[in-house]
Amino acid sequence: MKLPVAKPDPLMVSGTNLEHARSHNRRAVLETIRLNRRLTRADISRMTALTPQTVSNIAAELLDAGMLLAGEPLREGARGQPAIPLSINPDGAYSIGVQLDQQALIAVVVDLSGQVRSRVELAVQRPTPELALPLIAAAVERLRLESALNWNRLLGMGLVMPGPFGVEGMTSVGPTTLPGWEGMDGEALSRALGLPVLLEKDATAAAIGERLYGMASQLQNFVYLFIGAGLGAGLFLDGRLYAGGRHNAGEIGHMIVAPGGRLCECGNRGCLERYVSLQALYEALDLAGSERATPEHLARLAVQPEGEAWLDSAAAPLRQAVNILECLLDIEAVVIGGLLPPAWMAELVRRLHPLPVSTRHRDGERLRLGSAGRDVVALGAAALTIFDEFNPQYEVLLKNGRG
Ligand SMILES: [Zn+2]
Repeated sequence: MKLPVAKPDPLMVSGTNLEHARSHNRRAVLETIRLNRRLTRADISRMTALTPQTVSNIAAELLDAGMLLAGEPLREGARGQPAIPLSINPDGAYSIGVQLDQQALIAVVVDLSGQVRSRVELAVQRPTPELALPLIAAAVERLRLESALNWNRLLGMGLVMPGPFGVEGMTSVGPTTLPGWEGMDGEALSRALGLPVLLEKDATAAAIGERLYGMASQLQNFVYLFIGAGLGAGLFLDGRLYAGGRHNAGEIGHMIVAPGGRLCECGNRGCLERYVSLQALYEALDLAGSERATPEHLARLAVQPEGEAWLDSAAAPLRQAVNILECLLDIEAVVIGGLLPPAWMAELVRRLHPLPVSTRHRDGERLRLGSAGRDVVALGAAALTIFDEFNPQYEVLLKNGRG
């Protein structure tokens, strides 16, 4: 599939793009207030390194649009002027996050503070666009009715699914992908669903979700390893997401870790996800293609000898991948999560130690389990539109104010 990337003009130096800077600064102000709950304009200016005038202008704009709330004046303002604490107005805007994978469709609507206001989960079976789009539209309608929120304040939808995107011979090929999505682009999705849609990979959304709601809130550099039907990585580097030119950064499932090894649907041999993925585990347990090839079924299984053999065969390539990521990116941690049930995940992580020496070999917490739970991907998906610097819906809300 193609992605609706708001591409900056390559000939334009980013510092001269005033509209971009304004959107970026607005996001920085919103995010700083969200993380700290209540801040005065002076606090915000200090914490974002923006000038008091810039903060003042952005705060006025956001207050006017109903995205911020002004509290009771504090008496401790400089030169006797009362300082007004600002906080996020949860009902200032809403966003929908949808996670679509081989077997489930999870949709949430969250408010500007990140609270889930309504949630829908459906079982699906390797959904094509023809099957998924009506289900997503129906889920959106259910969220609207059940949450009873003012839909005029909806910023749009983040839709996430397994990658890679738009790669011939990889996208839509094999059991670890979703079929039929390669020709679909974001504009078509936005038209079909009647609201702005941003597309992203599940692993990238998981990284945002973990950063906003999980144990990665203090990390500036980490990689989220997402074990789904296949395997992907979300890259959070230097305090922001790194998506790559076509949103395929972190498609490490097809990184070759065993030259001449197991044949992959992509045509290569020895791809990492042939060893580390739910699909690889289903094959090891002789479940592949059967109705019992689900995370729920795995959760009910004891780790039997076939499972032990898979864990051993997965550990070595995964250890190698952690080493490559650390040496390449100088990250603080690899966060691991996804659809593998907790008991299996714990066994897998236990087998990864001791980790190989790398640029991070002295740190104690190089490898961490994700903590944001089952909805981490859907929450990250919803955050896509809230933190999208180019979201046209923001402009609509800012222009119309409270509505
Ligand atoms: Zn491959």
